[in-house]
Amino acid sequence: MKNTIEGFGENVFSLPVMEKRLSASTFASMKKTIATGSELDAGIADEVAEAMKEWAMEKGATHYTHWFQPLTGATAEKHDSFIFPDFNDGVITNFSGDELIQGEPDASSFPSGGLRATFEARGYTGWDPTSRAFIKYDAAGAATLTIPTVFCGYKGEALDKKTPLLRSMKALSDQTVRLGKLFGIDCGDTMAKATLGSEQEYFLIDADLVAQRPDILQTGRTLFGKGASKHQQLDDHYFGAIKPRVAAFMADLDAELWKNGIPAKTRHNEVCPAQFEIAPVFETLNVSVDHNMITMDVLQVTAEKHGFVCLLHEKPFAAVNGSGKHNNWSISGPDGKNWLKPGDNPHENAKFMTIVVALLKAVDTHADLLRASVASAGNDHRLGANEAPPAVVSVFLGDQLTDIIEQIEAGGAKQSKDGGHIHLGVDLLPKLPRGNTDRNRTSPFAFVGNRFEFRAVGSNQSPAGANIVLNTIVAAAFDDICTEIEAGLEKGGEFNAVLQDVLAAVIKEHKRILFNGDGYTDEWLAEATKRGMPNLVTTEEALEVLNTQKAKDVFAKYSVLTNEELESRYNTYTEAYETLIGIEASTAIDIAKTMIIPAAVTTINEYSSVPAVAGMTSELSSLLEKTVAGIAALEAAGEPSAEIAAMNELRESVDALEALVPADLWPLPSYDEMLLG
Ligand code: ADP
Ligand code: MG
Repeated sequence: MKNTIEGFGENVFSLPVMEKRLSASTFASMKKTIATGSELDAGIADEVAEAMKEWAMEKGATHYTHWFQPLTGATAEKHDSFIFPDFNDGVITNFSGDELIQGEPDASSFPSGGLRATFEARGYTGWDPTSRAFIKYDAAGAATLTIPTVFCGYKGEALDKKTPLLRSMKALSDQTVRLGKLFGIDCGDTMAKATLGSEQEYFLIDADLVAQRPDILQTGRTLFGKGASKHQQLDDHYFGAIKPRVAAFMADLDAELWKNGIPAKTRHNEVCPAQFEIAPVFETLNVSVDHNMITMDVLQVTAEKHGFVCLLHEKPFAAVNGSGKHNNWSISGPDGKNWLKPGDNPHENAKFMTIVVALLKAVDTHADLLRASVASAGNDHRLGANEAPPAVVSVFLGDQLTDIIEQIEAGGAKQSKDGGHIHLGVDLLPKLPRGNTDRNRTSPFAFVGNRFEFRAVGSNQSPAGANIVLNTIVAAAFDDICTEIEAGLEKGGEFNAVLQDVLAAVIKEHKRILFNGDGYTDEWLAEATKRGMPNLVTTEEALEVLNTQKAKDVFAKYSVLTNEELESRYNTYTEAYETLIGIEASTAIDIAKTMIIPAAVTTINEYSSVPAVAGMTSELSSLLEKTVAGIAALEAAGEPSAEIAAMNELRESVDALEALVPADLWPLPSYDEMLLG
């Protein structure tokens, strides 16, 4: 049997494939575009398109698609075939450079949040040559050449998540390169790159059971369900032996991801029964985002093949852990090195500390924006539920790094005459612990040895949103810090002394963001409030941040989102939130009316002539009354927060009924069956 690793990248129009199929000069030009983010030389597009088409057709493709990421958070594609009639009753195939570079899908049915009137139906897709084209096979085996693209309106306004992501990467790169120059690193026009490794959590539930749960089918989560008697209390699932049926699924999943050039690395059982995780090796940010979008797709398709449904919802089951997407983020400098890895000499350490301090400044200044970037109805159930970080965004550095930060703050103030403090650029940092030794799982934003891990991203969300914010706010912090350093140097200051002063001042201003303790406690929330840190509990509150002047300014200043583009995100996300809660409410009402009430009534009728169960009968009756009242309250609720409260109320009586109604009469598969079956 062929080892599935040998199939790595076989569906990808990868650099080796390009090297083989393109002329040397065209290949060199492609490579330059990828490294420097420079404009693609339009002269090579025809050759690249032709090579792509030949390669794709050899793989069985008849169609190509510009694949993009609209504001729905999903991916979108429209297929065009390669055929062209030869006007001799025959057909030729054709794929031009123009078709590769730009497409014109009808954009009218994608959310634009008011950016574009519906009569302006035109949207434009533009090839992102920095992310590889690949072959996507549908369930029936039909192949499509899939080209990663951005999606814009007529005036270039961003209608998608990739456009601002690429812009934010450019902003971050510009400021990183500038910072590098201050440290004597000059790599010409080579870009710095943000890197991302996103760990993806998910549930696998038997498809036959899901088919009987209208709530999961319509909303991705259970709206009712009495907790399973045994779930995660024993912690016996986490890293446990993987059951054969799941192992077969995972093997298939890895093979499929590898074919798509996605470096799937780690797979394991998660905390909750039926919950799992897959983590890839990190890659350049936009490529990694594309790969996560593909991974979410492949997870679902592969699950189907194995008789499962893969749930990506942040909280499919109440009272047990939900799923997140840990966002491991770092910066690979223009020199190709990880700039969040502590260095081997004082100079490198000074650069490393500068970046860490900039991160503190960025996150403290824009904690609210980071929170807003992970706001969704699903994630509201998870954040702060003692399994995921709280809605308060703080930074964990660990004791040792915090100590160094404090020394820099003190040393800078004393012009470092006191030998007791670390002098940046002169002293070597003590070796920092690496790996798992110094973990704080309760922190939303944690330094983990050579990268930061933002843990508040929801399992179902595109990683683009959080990283657009992260790149932009770090670019802003680098910008300010570079400006300060440059000003100090201009006044004739010595580099290390200037740096020390600049960083000490930044630390003084932003150190409140540091918190190494247990983020799940109420004491911390009280303390955070005292420190003036935002605690935005609901999506509605969090999305309001997008309307603040501070948010508008930072996105506009770094050309990531214009004010109009930002407003369109606010409109789109609030509307999506309200719509989703409305769907949940009406699904809950339907289930309660057509499934729960009949089951309760049947039980009451069956029990009513049996005096021995009179107690149960009256309990059932009173819960039935509560359920009927709960339905009426939900129907009257109207707006999201009232709907959520009413749904919770209704759920209480329905779940209590589930404890009394005979199992064979209960119309929905139970938590026990779904999680432990
Ligand atoms: P853990 O569960 O302990 O956090 P995992 O191995 O599951 O660790 O995930 C760690 C993730 O961090 C992986 O995707 C890994 O590739 C990624 N990672 C490692 N180094 C970097 C880096 N420099 N930039 C971005 N991500 C990184
Ligand atoms: Mg992790």
